[in-house]
Amino acid sequence: MSPTLSAIATAASVQRGETSAVDVVDAALERVAALDLNAFLSVRAEAARADAVEVDRRVARGESLALAGVPVAVKDNIALKGGPTTCGSRLLEPHVSPYDATAIARLKTAGAVVVGKTNLDEFAMGSSTESSAFGPTRNPHDRDRVAGGSSGGSAAAVAAGAVPVALGSSTGGSVRQPAAFCGVVGVKPTYGRVSRYGLVAFGSSFDQIGALATSVEDAARLLEVVAGSDPSDATTRPEPVGELGADLDAWRPHAARIGWPKEYFATALDAEIRGACEAALDRLAAGGAEIVEVSLPHTEYGVAVYYIVAIAEASSNLARYDGVRYGFRAPADDLQSMYFRTRAAFGAEVKRRIMLGTYVLSAGYYEAFYGKGTAVRARISTDFDTAWERVDVLLAPTTPTPAFKIGEKIDDPLEMYLNDIYTVSANLAGIPAVSIPYGMIDGLPIGVQLMGPPLSERRLFEIARFLERDIASGSSG
Ligand code: GLN
Repeated sequence: MSPTLSAIATAASVQRGETSAVDVVDAALERVAALDLNAFLSVRAEAARADAVEVDRRVARGESLALAGVPVAVKDNIALKGGPTTCGSRLLEPHVSPYDATAIARLKTAGAVVVGKTNLDEFAMGSSTESSAFGPTRNPHDRDRVAGGSSGGSAAAVAAGAVPVALGSSTGGSVRQPAAFCGVVGVKPTYGRVSRYGLVAFGSSFDQIGALATSVEDAARLLEVVAGSDPSDATTRPEPVGELGADLDAWRPHAARIGWPKEYFATALDAEIRGACEAALDRLAAGGAEIVEVSLPHTEYGVAVYYIVAIAEASSNLARYDGVRYGFRAPADDLQSMYFRTRAAFGAEVKRRIMLGTYVLSAGYYEAFYGKGTAVRARISTDFDTAWERVDVLLAPTTPTPAFKIGEKIDDPLEMYLNDIYTVSANLAGIPAVSIPYGMIDGLPIGVQLMGPPLSERRLFEIARFLERDIASGSSG
């Protein structure tokens, strides 16, 4: 198998005519076929080759393409025209996407080639990819462990070197957490930075498409391509995206104020993950950054609030899978039993959330749960706004532990939900966050997380790149 080049190096080489998009994509398809992690739900070999031929034609015509010939894997809750978008669910197994998501359309415009769709927790609900109707994805560092979730397939595909970059989605941590578990870079952009058009809705006020890559620069390049306002999604931000990945190496820590959110270190955090965060802070301080202890006092309510508000939105969004318009329809003699039998095909976790979400929205309980949840959500946002008056970014763990064993938490939803303790707040507040690999525990990767104010992606990439260079030089972790 030929090694994967970075996305940036691949694009440059295809652009210069040193290699063809067809050869690059063929090599990627070989690597995908050799993977044995249940990372892909579908592979589009013929279509990808045809797309690569077209990219070679465009390059020959003199077009300049930011991702010329770059093979990309896409989470299977993002619509790609003419192919499946299963969401890891029996409900959408027979569905064929009638259009491209805006993010996919932008990938194609930039010359990227989608090689396949990746595994995920059913409807992106989970932290381990175990709730997929098509079985769990395995962690490339240890096949008995989860790849994380819900974008586990994308993270595993990148970590195993099948593709240099992949798209995932994050509602509460589904890009950063699998990135941390698999040892790759994961970016959850500012809410509204990337269009949600064609991303299957879970919690619409949280959902964002994000990037997974083996390097910070590749993640920035991918985000640069898919980000930006879109008339098809009224929640997209109008501000120009700008250059997210150029000259990251020029950044120096001396004027930076890095926040250490004390509540993130007060919980049951693995000692070695705490150590990795401290090592990262030390490196920034050694470069001249000021490290400031800050308090985000409502942090402890994050998981509870997330699992009220997000499931309320989910119960409403998933009402559309009634067997009438999309995908699977169970045979039945009358409409009522058709609805009933069709929706019985959801997996246990999705059913749990639909029922609980319906409950928290029901008359009599709405104020106590949904109303209160949204009020506390606003306080979590205010905590961050207050922090930005004193610091530029916050540094925290991505997860409390490294990747756990397949089967270890699947029967204990609360244990599973607690895995999201450090990631949900960024989604609740709509702020950008990046996880980068920063060392290993017993052969398993550890992630360190950076969070910043809305639209601070470039700053997060600069600091992430500084830490990435540092770890590459072997001086910490
Ligand atoms: N693990 C979280 C959940 O189960 C987050 C999922 C996500 O970000 N899509 O809801």
